[in-house]
Amino acid sequence: MPSSTISKRLFVFDFDWTLIEADSDLWVAETLAPDLAKQQEDHIGKIVWTELQDLLLQRLFERGITQQDLEKTLRNIPFTPEIIAALRLMKSQGAELCIISDANTFYIEYILKAHGLEGIFSKIITNPAHFDTHGRLHVKRFHGLDKEPHNCPLPCQPNLCKGQELQKLMDTQTWDQVIYMGDSTNDFCPSTRLQSSRDVVLARADLLLEKHIKLHLDMVKAQVIYWQSPADVLAITQTLLNVPASSSSATIAAGKPVAISSIHQVPVSV
Ligand SMILES: [Mg+2]
Ligand SMILES: [Zn+2]
Repeated sequence: MPSSTISKRLFVFDFDWTLIEADSDLWVAETLAPDLAKQQEDHIGKIVWTELQDLLLQRLFERGITQQDLEKTLRNIPFTPEIIAALRLMKSQGAELCIISDANTFYIEYILKAHGLEGIFSKIITNPAHFDTHGRLHVKRFHGLDKEPHNCPLPCQPNLCKGQELQKLMDTQTWDQVIYMGDSTNDFCPSTRLQSSRDVVLARADLLLEKHIKLHLDMVKAQVIYWQSPADVLAITQTLLNVPASSSSATIAAGKPVAISSIHQVPVSV
């Protein structure tokens, strides 16, 4: 199907190190309590990440860190103009945009708002967070302990199988093209859910998602495009949407879009 005839597109994004240039959980710990960030490293893999973040938030609260302090540090997380331009371009071309992330609702919604991107995503699927009456932020598992375990055989965390959630989004209607963008181990499961050769996985190069895809190429049916920088993402978006860089309102002075031919692509076998 030529790009110009694709009318129903679904873009689904991971958040940390995909839309933003950092891991929001680690950013909060490292900027507000570097000693706690260091301690946290010893517990990685032993405690479910969401619980670890909730413990960190308790410690930050005990140190007097307020909602305003959290907001101030979240505002400083790098969110590049190229990614923002790419998102706006997708939206302007009628695509539906969703996020599936292992961060939390407060961090994501606040960061999006700080960059004027509230309302651009039709769905944000992530761990729920709320401030209690004392001003302490709590974060809970998206896939709660009250539910049956998701039992995903792929490397998904107990609190979130991103593939299962992507599948639900894909099942809401018939899409001409689904694009999933991510960087890490828990982005592998959703990458395997794309079944059409028109679908695209945008995998951040040299990170764990690329490693998993290359180890299990037979499990990925979609076309895979590896990207290095946010400028690559903008260039790829312009190509996917068939919008020439020169005529696109998304073109920005800071961006140096690269030709899609220069981006390594894995040939698709169907
Ligand atoms: Mg990520
Ligand atoms: Zn999974």
